[in-house]
Amino acid sequence: MNKEVRVRFAPSPTGPLHIGGVRTALYNYLFAKKNGGKFLLRIEDTDQTRFVPGAEEYIKESLDWLGITPDESPWNPGSVGPYRQSERKADYMQYALDLIEKGHAYYAFDTAEELEAMRERLTAARVVTPQYNSITRTQMKNSLTLPEEEVKARLESGEPYVIRVKVPRKEEVRLNDLIRGWVMVHSSTLDDKVLMKSDGMPTYHLANIVDDHLMGITHVIRGEEWLPSAPLHVLLYRFFGWEDTMPEFAHLPLLLKPDGNGKLSKRDGDKLGFPVFPINWKNKETGETAAGFREQGYLPDAFLNFLAFLGWNPGDDREIFSKEELVEAFSIDRIGKSGTRFDIAKAKWFNEQYLRTESNAALAAFIIEDAKADGIALDQAKAEAIASLTKERCTFPADMWNDNKFIAIAPASFDEQVASKKWNEEAVKVLLNYATSLEGYSGNFDASTAKTMLESSAEAEGIKLGKVMQAVRLAVTGAGAGPDLMEIFAILGVTEVAKRIRYALATLTVVG
Ligand code: GLU
Repeated sequence: MNKEVRVRFAPSPTGPLHIGGVRTALYNYLFAKKNGGKFLLRIEDTDQTRFVPGAEEYIKESLDWLGITPDESPWNPGSVGPYRQSERKADYMQYALDLIEKGHAYYAFDTAEELEAMRERLTAARVVTPQYNSITRTQMKNSLTLPEEEVKARLESGEPYVIRVKVPRKEEVRLNDLIRGWVMVHSSTLDDKVLMKSDGMPTYHLANIVDDHLMGITHVIRGEEWLPSAPLHVLLYRFFGWEDTMPEFAHLPLLLKPDGNGKLSKRDGDKLGFPVFPINWKNKETGETAAGFREQGYLPDAFLNFLAFLGWNPGDDREIFSKEELVEAFSIDRIGKSGTRFDIAKAKWFNEQYLRTESNAALAAFIIEDAKADGIALDQAKAEAIASLTKERCTFPADMWNDNKFIAIAPASFDEQVASKKWNEEAVKVLLNYATSLEGYSGNFDASTAKTMLESSAEAEGIKLGKVMQAVRLAVTGAGAGPDLMEIFAILGVTEVAKRIRYALATLTVVG
């Protein structure tokens, strides 16, 4: 590639950004970085009826969270702005008029009732997809059918009108999609799409093409739902005379429901209990909310890694990739053609892998914060010790505290099932012995000391330690399973372990 690669993510601010949109942004980012190019963000807000306040900020925050910040955007503009389509409003009309001049577009004055009547007529005549096209336009009110004078008069009178593209009747439109290969469409299947609406705003099609051209976009990487629009876009590039700089297209496969049946929706997430949005969302006007991956405890790099694999693979069996490694490995030809099933178990797996490699110092911050919410003040050293002990067993940072609160809060009750099976005479004997020796000990108390002392107690009572180990755990943690017990003892300290054992001995009743 000799030209600088310039790609764009072009969301419409109509609500929270779906995870599929985030993946599109990520692939654009990876492609740009891999090729030493630029990643742009353009807000496509020409449909004023669908504008949702807060959606734009949501997009920004989501991308920032993942560290896929655009090189150029409304918040960080480059030289080809504006980066919000509504701010370029005045320019689009010129482009539409240019197409009219070249004979590739026309004014249409049909009212909603007239359009409806056309649809009914065509449906009655068994036309499967009634369209405003090269055949039907001849019966409608537009600048191709009305006398020139009348068109002029209508325009001058301020009557509402739209501008439509004039799709040729018989032509094969081709494009070579980087993922799907050659796509061929006959122009007779395309309709004369509206380019300028009666409110003076361009439609998506016109604004998108004009902006991609003005912004020097070299590759359009977007969701498969836009593939049907691509032939029209190819025609528009030709009509404008911009064929030489037409971007290449890559349409990404859909993200599918976990069972593979259809596109992943918010409803699937709600039903199956997982988010389909990057961060929490709240519609300021309607109060409608949606859960995000960030707030559920997904680490940004883990989530990014997971997203990258939803439709792409590196060609070998490596799965853990940092952002830099993804940039290095990424290529469009390793994006699959078919839809990718969404698998939340895989998202969790990635999170677990990343959690394990986080430093204890960094994870301690989560633990300190969560403990504080429970009214417990933990110091850094203790929080780091908890992180080191628990991270191998957790999916989310919050699990480190939530599943292991017993480290800071002595159990007030004990797992009854474990107690009914394991709290027996032998356990009591060993624990009595152990408590006494702990109470008489004042040296350095680490995991191996705790273990040696416990082994001696069991030996002194002539009991195999393995037989009473679960009861020992029960006494100190209240539960029958958990992280390495001797490490827990070391964190608790000798006095606390002895105190907990005394409490258990006084509280629990021996079975059998
Ligand atoms: N505004 C469109 C969207 O919301 C952009 C499609 C494209 O990238 O061309 O997805």
